[in-house]
Amino acid sequence: MSLEARKIRLIMQLRQAGISDTAVLSALERVPREHFVPAAFQDQAYENRTLPIGRGQTLSQPEVVATMTQALLCGPRMKVLEIGTGSGYQTAVLSRLCRRVYTIERHRTLLRAAEERLLALRLHNITAHYGDGWQGWPAQAPFQRVIVTAAAAEVPGALVDQLGAEGVMVIPVGRDGREQDLLRFRRDDRGILSEERLCGVRFVPLILGVPGEDGRSTAGPDGGSLA
Ligand code: SAH
Repeated sequence: MSLEARKIRLIMQLRQAGISDTAVLSALERVPREHFVPAAFQDQAYENRTLPIGRGQTLSQPEVVATMTQALLCGPRMKVLEIGTGSGYQTAVLSRLCRRVYTIERHRTLLRAAEERLLALRLHNITAHYGDGWQGWPAQAPFQRVIVTAAAAEVPGALVDQLGAEGVMVIPVGRDGREQDLLRFRRDDRGILSEERLCGVRFVPLILGVPGEDGRSTAGPDGGSLA
């Protein structure tokens, strides 16, 4: 089966799984996932599964990317903060739906590779930054949307602080190696925050600090899939 046929099959699977936002589906259709997938996994680029991207990190399952993107309720004038650039795939999808994407990654090598891929696709409304996403990006705050693609043990306070009025944040929260909760926070026009649980997921952990500073391992076997 050709990659194109596999892509159409995947989009149908996503529709069946409840992804109904046509802007999200069309963004997923327009971003070539094979471009973000290691050579050895090219034939699996349009399977609904998590794939390894090196450094113990993973490219999330398409259904999870679609679910999170749909839950984020993006609009074309919005400024979005993404924590955990990884391969850059989720970044590319967001860049098709929003005005500008600010993305932070704590692995230099992953960040460089992602930046090259995004440039090659001529996606220019993205600003990437090497650093610790727990701190967010104060200089660019507030953000209308915040998305975290690694599981936080607890919700980072800095990210909540940097979420603007009528903002939406989608974040997996829970322990590494266990089922985590995909949560959505919404801030109303008076600044009051509400929380809702969307589904169970499995992500690699959101680690505090950057490599070399904390000396901790970043390995995680099964990030970014539905639990
Ligand atoms: N969205 C990515 C998948 C990311 S996997 C994609 O589409 O490919 C989670 C990523 O979060 C990993 O690349 C990991 O290095 C990164 N990460 C973990 N903790 C982080 C932190 N504190 N700050 C920034 N990035 C972090």
